[in-house]
Amino acid sequence: MFNLILFGPPGAGKGTQAVKIAEKFGWVHVSTGDILRSEVSRGTPLGLKVKSVMEAGHLVSDELLIELMESVFLRHKDSKGFVLDGFPRTLNQAKELDKMFDKLGQKVSLVLSLEVDEQELVRRLLNRAQEQGRKDDTEEVIKNRLVQYHQHTRPLIDYYKGRGLFEEVQGIGSVQEIFEALSGTLSRFMKK
Ligand code: AMP
Repeated sequence: MFNLILFGPPGAGKGTQAVKIAEKFGWVHVSTGDILRSEVSRGTPLGLKVKSVMEAGHLVSDELLIELMESVFLRHKDSKGFVLDGFPRTLNQAKELDKMFDKLGQKVSLVLSLEVDEQELVRRLLNRAQEQGRKDDTEEVIKNRLVQYHQHTRPLIDYYKGRGLFEEVQGIGSVQEIFEALSGTLSRFMKK
């Protein structure tokens, strides 16, 4: 099983690229943001719990995310691999992911990070707000989401770098160009 974490700030293009990678390699794409948005729109108990936190651009609790990921892994035990998009987002989530994988005889195979400068991120997020009408893409909320990224998620870079699992790819260019850069790095890594 190949377990890829697609890493990067909000607006880096993780979702778009995760879909393409999952399709190319036959892996399961897991977007915690998509799962949570679907819970919110269906008005499930989990959705009701996380709605206001998400709309404010804050992070949902580690406990809920870990529960959610456990159920995802149980549901896809026979998968050839995973593309994790939006998880882990805190050091605690990363450590809990290691524990979950340990239990399943799995490990994080690689963390691929999409590098995009902050100005471009804000521009893309505002564009997406107009196109998709996401409630968490207003200017105020975008600021919050970037702050959360810097405070809680960026520290994961050192966590994975220390284990030789972290690779960076430029997230600027056309969707296809970025996809080719990601695929190239991924293929090189898989051959090692
Ligand atoms: P995304 O679509 O990945 O940007 O996620 C949208 C929102 O869902 C985030 O701003 C958080 O409120 C919540 N969320 C998604 N993944 C996580 C996670 N791993 N930990 C905490 N909150 C998350």
